Amino acid sequence: MVEIYGKIGIIPTEKPLKGTRRMPYLVIFVDALPYCFPMNPIPMLRTMFLRRLLALTLPFLLSQPLTASGPAGGEAGINRTPTYAETLEHCRRLAAISPMVHYTSFGQSHQLRELPLVILDRHGRFSPEEVHASGNLVLLVQAAIHPGEPVGKDAGLRLLQEVAVQQRHLELLDKVTLLFIPIFNVDGHERFGPYNRINQNGPEEMGWRTNALNLNLNRDYLKADSREMRHFLDLWNQWKPDFFIDSHSTNGGDYQYTMTYMLETWGNMDEGITRWCEEVFLPYWEAAMEGHGHPVFPYVSYRRWHDPRSGLVSRPTPPALSTGYASQRNRPGLLLETHMLKPYAMRVESTYLTILESMRLLNREHEAFRQAVGQADLYTASADLRSRPFTLDLGSTGDSVMVDFRGVEYEEKTSTLSGGQWFIYHSDRPVTYPVAWFNRMEPTARVMLPVAYIIPVQWESVIDRLKAHGVRLQRIGSDLTLEVESYRFEEVSLSASVSEGRQTARFRAVPIREERTYPAGSVIVEMNQPTARVIAHALEPEAPSSFAYWGLFNNIFQRTEYFESYAMEAIAREMLAEDPELGRRLEERKASDPAFASSPQAILHWFYAQSPWYDQEHNVYPVGRIMHWEQGILNR
Ligand SMILES: [Zn+2]
Repeated sequence: MVEIYGKIGIIPTEKPLKGTRRMPYLVIFVDALPYCFPMNPIPMLRTMFLRRLLALTLPFLLSQPLTASGPAGGEAGINRTPTYAETLEHCRRLAAISPMVHYTSFGQSHQLRELPLVILDRHGRFSPEEVHASGNLVLLVQAAIHPGEPVGKDAGLRLLQEVAVQQRHLELLDKVTLLFIPIFNVDGHERFGPYNRINQNGPEEMGWRTNALNLNLNRDYLKADSREMRHFLDLWNQWKPDFFIDSHSTNGGDYQYTMTYMLETWGNMDEGITRWCEEVFLPYWEAAMEGHGHPVFPYVSYRRWHDPRSGLVSRPTPPALSTGYASQRNRPGLLLETHMLKPYAMRVESTYLTILESMRLLNREHEAFRQAVGQADLYTASADLRSRPFTLDLGSTGDSVMVDFRGVEYEEKTSTLSGGQWFIYHSDRPVTYPVAWFNRMEPTARVMLPVAYIIPVQWESVIDRLKAHGVRLQRIGSDLTLEVESYRFEEVSLSASVSEGRQTARFRAVPIREERTYPAGSVIVEMNQPTARVIAHALEPEAPSSFAYWGLFNNIFQRTEYFESYAMEAIAREMLAEDPELGRRLEERKASDPAFASSPQAILHWFYAQSPWYDQEHNVYPVGRIMHWEQGILNR
């Protein structure tokens, strides 16, 4: 029995339809299509009849095999994926017929398209408050952040269809509520066509990687420049998902696996969650996928491009990317990378099975996993996180383990066309290669975290972004003078080419300690909150996706006052007369640096930089690190 009444919106209105007399009537929305009925007895009977008819026929219509004229793609033999309009229409229909499905939008794109969200809950709880109160785990599945790789959309639509229409998999919803974003990059998805993925084996048409502003949303999680990402972060802050899946298709040399994956188990995620992923999730899911005939392998690249025998390399994901971000919010983020050469239906199938198996495991492990997640949040907000060095970045130790990699036969030729190496893969000839996998990581940047950061009021762009991440902030009501740690930037170089619409910055951040006065309205960011890892990644300049790296602080690298050489010459002579030690250091510098010794401008600049006229804020990080609360600020 399918229940539809609860899902039909009934809106009273007083505006008459063409051809009707002026009288009150109802507009009933079914699948967003308005049906208007005057409020007199005979049409009311007709209304009841129509509702009954719809209740009986819609499930039947939706249970029909889906063909090229509609969703979902990726069925066996169907090499297509639905358009944006078809996807939304289908989600609305499913919501109209099933009390377990709710369709909504979590915001708007830059081109004002709605960002679709489907909520699947066995008991019709569709608000974060209700779901959190129920104790259910929240699984967030995101598809088409790269709309050229839409497998997750079709996999999710298939699962929704099976639940809503065929009443299958209901047991998987006992303790799990599914949030499904069928298309995240909706504007990119509407740049629909057959020429968007040169290497990929279908679907026939697909969307484009970047959004309407040519931003790759999968670099935008921490800096949050795009409107789509701001809405996503709102969604995350409200729903606090427990487990996150992000679905893609990858390029790269051919192999047997339909899918490779990444979970941030390198030491860049909470230890308890990491253990759970390594000891519970991965053994279960890998075995399950093997059983389904879709063996999986970690996401790797070859040490030598295209050549598996050269060895395999893995790299941790920084929080600019989806699953790297999830791990800094203390949640496992499972990156799925189906291989571009596998038939589209096979890629959809393996993604669908992954969602299904993840739900199965989350149901089974519900209590233990809830505890692990809760513990991770508590630990992150506690002083324990700050009692030892916090890892900002990881790199390979150079050590490897031997693994059997299920590749395919390949030949390497020298191209008569380009003169380069040409790899020809024989997808129909599987071979298992014993190869070295370089999967051992060690910290390459670590820092002792402060009890709080303080951000001057004028750096609104930074404060605003922290707010977007759900970070708790406190404004100071009056000027505050205190001792802070911070950084002076040396060896600053700005990128020559544009990256995500930004000029990124490289530098060496040298720690300094000084007394500063922060003006009223400045913001204190305490670290005793579950977002502490995100705060550190945003505000510690040497973190791989830091705001400083993305150029949010580039203003401080600009000098705005300059000396005239004749003026500086006189001042330099005065400085030498007052401080003979300065003369000795000058001679030392000249002796050790011939380029310096032969540059009059460099020599005068050397004096200028040590004079009180030099801009004391040039290359100095405005954000302060408060290491202790002894200052008695904020009345504590
Ligand atoms: Zn992708």
